Amino acid sequence: MPDLARNRRTGTVHVAAELPFSPDLDRGGWECPGCRGEMIPVAASGDRLYKVAPHFRIHGQHAEHCSALLPGPGGGSTPSASGDAGNALPGTFPRKLRLAADRQDVVPEREPAAASAAHAGLPKAASLPHPQGSASVAGTLHRIAESYLLAPEYHGEPLEIEGCEGTSYETCFRRLKNTSRPARLPRLVWFAEIQFRHILREGDVAELTLSPLRWIKERGSVRPGPHYRIRFDMAPWTPRRRNAMFAELERRRVEQQELHHAEAAERVNIFFFGRQDGEDAMLFHVEDPRLACFFLLPKV
Ligand SMILES: [Zn+2]
Repeated sequence: MPDLARNRRTGTVHVAAELPFSPDLDRGGWECPGCRGEMIPVAASGDRLYKVAPHFRIHGQHAEHCSALLPGPGGGSTPSASGDAGNALPGTFPRKLRLAADRQDVVPEREPAAASAAHAGLPKAASLPHPQGSASVAGTLHRIAESYLLAPEYHGEPLEIEGCEGTSYETCFRRLKNTSRPARLPRLVWFAEIQFRHILREGDVAELTLSPLRWIKERGSVRPGPHYRIRFDMAPWTPRRRNAMFAELERRRVEQQELHHAEAAERVNIFFFGRQDGEDAMLFHVEDPRLACFFLLPKV
């Protein structure tokens, strides 16, 4: 299932999972990065709940020699599913994360010149001053995490995330592990397996429990203690983003449960860029849905 498509308005490549959180991507239409055939986003509107993850389907058929059709394992949420990532990489490899300013819903705004050019059917490259520059900037963590997973040979490449203590793919990403005592952690992109039993919801606050935990020493024995958690305070978000995140959390929880019961070799992991709580070192706050995403990784 193709997971990548190029936005015809902006010329940048996106994964379908970004769409529910970025309403401005709705406009302009989508094309296959391999053959420029029209692509249609499915289950990608944040306004409704879907049982399947967002993905793209081709309208009609790919061109015969489309590079997006190179053989690769299927399964929408595995990083390896993006069959064209290998050759598409240099052009779309993000070096920087920049979130677009949040807007309440889709309020018509000043149309940039690029948009009217797209309406006139002009090729995108001619209408943007820095097409390469825009391709190297990601609007969500998803695209960056995917690049991290797909291309270990690029881990030395520079990466700029505002507030992150790392400066390259290598130094920005770290797996969250069990701990023996609460510790202040550097502000990085952390990732860990999620638990499928616990999604706490209170009003607009959702809390996800991760697998890594704190071991507690008690009367000479050591027993498992509290788990790391991620809290999403969604009150400031648009209804669209709230819906999309609730749906994604529940979908991933169920997916993790199914993987667990099937004794599968992979598990759902969350990648997130958040703020460690000032008092509770086992708690992170993620303030923007575009700073969290999910991938299947081999079970640890
Ligand atoms: Zn194609």
